[in-house]
Amino acid sequence: MASQATESFRDPSNDKPEPLDIVIVGGSLGGLCTALALRSLPQCHRITILERNSTPLLHNQGAGIVAGGDTLDFFKRYDRCNRSLAVSSQRRQYLDKDGDIVHKEDMVQNMTSWDLVYYILRANVDYVESAYCKVPQRRVDEAEVRHLHGHKVTGIEKCGEKVSVAYTTTDNGEGTMEADLVVGADGPSSTVRSLLQPDVQRTYAGYVALRGTVREDDVTPETLEAFKDRFAFFHTRGVQILAYLIPGENGTLEPGQRLVNFVYYTNFPSKSLDEPSEELAELMTDVDGVRHRITMPPGKTNPKAWEKQRVIASEKLPPQFAEIVRATKKPFVQAVTDVISPKNEFLDGKVILLGDALAGFRPHTVASTSQAAFDAMILSDMLRGEVDRKEWKKQTMGYARTIQKRGVDMGNRSQHQDLLLEEHIHDRNLASKPREEEIWPSWAIADVA
Ligand SMILES: Cc1cc2nc3c(=O)[nH]c(=O)nc-3n(C[C@H](O)[C@H](O)[C@H](O)COP(=O)(O)OP(=O)(O)OC[C@H]3O[C@@H](n4cnc5c(N)ncnc54)[C@H](O)[C@@H]3O)c2cc1C
Repeated sequence: MASQATESFRDPSNDKPEPLDIVIVGGSLGGLCTALALRSLPQCHRITILERNSTPLLHNQGAGIVAGGDTLDFFKRYDRCNRSLAVSSQRRQYLDKDGDIVHKEDMVQNMTSWDLVYYILRANVDYVESAYCKVPQRRVDEAEVRHLHGHKVTGIEKCGEKVSVAYTTTDNGEGTMEADLVVGADGPSSTVRSLLQPDVQRTYAGYVALRGTVREDDVTPETLEAFKDRFAFFHTRGVQILAYLIPGENGTLEPGQRLVNFVYYTNFPSKSLDEPSEELAELMTDVDGVRHRITMPPGKTNPKAWEKQRVIASEKLPPQFAEIVRATKKPFVQAVTDVISPKNEFLDGKVILLGDALAGFRPHTVASTSQAAFDAMILSDMLRGEVDRKEWKKQTMGYARTIQKRGVDMGNRSQHQDLLLEEHIHDRNLASKPREEEIWPSWAIADVA
């Protein structure tokens, strides 16, 4: 049963509710989208973002994001920087090992970069200046958002009608903060989730994504032909690679300066991430001998381990894909994992999870940023009284469960089975279905509908 405080911030008949103290844990895309969407509410809520990273800006990996419908809708609704967000691709095409096109279909998709999205959000949320975009004018009477970096959340507990959030700071400080609402936007290894649902774990899917970018004017014209205005794919046993153009340095969309971005999935069998096989351990051990569990940051990959991947790329991939993998100077590696929380609200609805903290999708779904954007928008709509709490829960959990499972199915089929090209195309097209056209299956909403 929800407490009175919970009821008061969702009651649509209460058109003059008090401003709430809202703490958002995590200052990446999910946390920033949430801050921006909640700041638009008339109550002028007092919003604080707690981000564990020690620097004021997150270090980007310089990689691409497919800007799905909800990401684009979010920017239409809230962005005041008014700059173009994406490079568009007009067609999908599948290559064979020789680099010839074996299937193509017209489909417009928008591709952006994580750093451009991040800086546009920071400009909107807390007026951070950057070379990426102009900072919008401050509005009179708008809610302030405090962005506190170097604040790592360590504890959450109920404290009367409020929730107490404990944190440590990078300068060895510690403290607590009280909130009416806590939003866990702290990513796939969420602390908020693990404090409230300690049994939920990230599990290894048996393969990794090798990722990187190359400037479009650094590749041969034949190779650029395969990726310019195109979303290109290649599949072979245990391997999938895809590539598309994304904005370049400081978000430039200037032809010649954009980047060819690739995601190259390849199997690395291993019992778990904690007991990696010899091959996985070698790949995830950096140039300084430090082993990374899930992500090897750009520029840290051991040249010996990467050289092995360059050789394999030349043997297994079509020439265009082999060229971009071999030309990448700062590759990075992500172990592909699965995680989903069985629910998204806790402590009488005063703590909620969203984005990757709620459900970490496999990258094949190209939906992680869209999930974060959608979760932020519908949370704002609920607090505004436009969506009731039951509908909010049905839509957010229906989305999280359906797409998370779809990613597992897609990834397992692609990496661990021998599929016909038509089956790969079918799976990929299913992943592009607009959210509005989805009917969440009954198993995904049975307990929340
Ligand atoms: C630095 C960075 C670069 C990324 N680059 C790409 C990319 O190039 N392409 C791509 O597809 N995806 C990228 N991602 C992932 C992408 O942002 C997410 O998949 C998606 O947008 C959903 O975002 P999220 O905010 O839910 O989770 P995340 O982006 O994972 O963000 C979680 C945030 O919470 C913070 N955090 C975690 N624990 C705590 C804690 N205890 N206290 C306070 N803060 C905490 C983390 O530092 C992080 O900033 C990146 C993520 C990060 C953090």
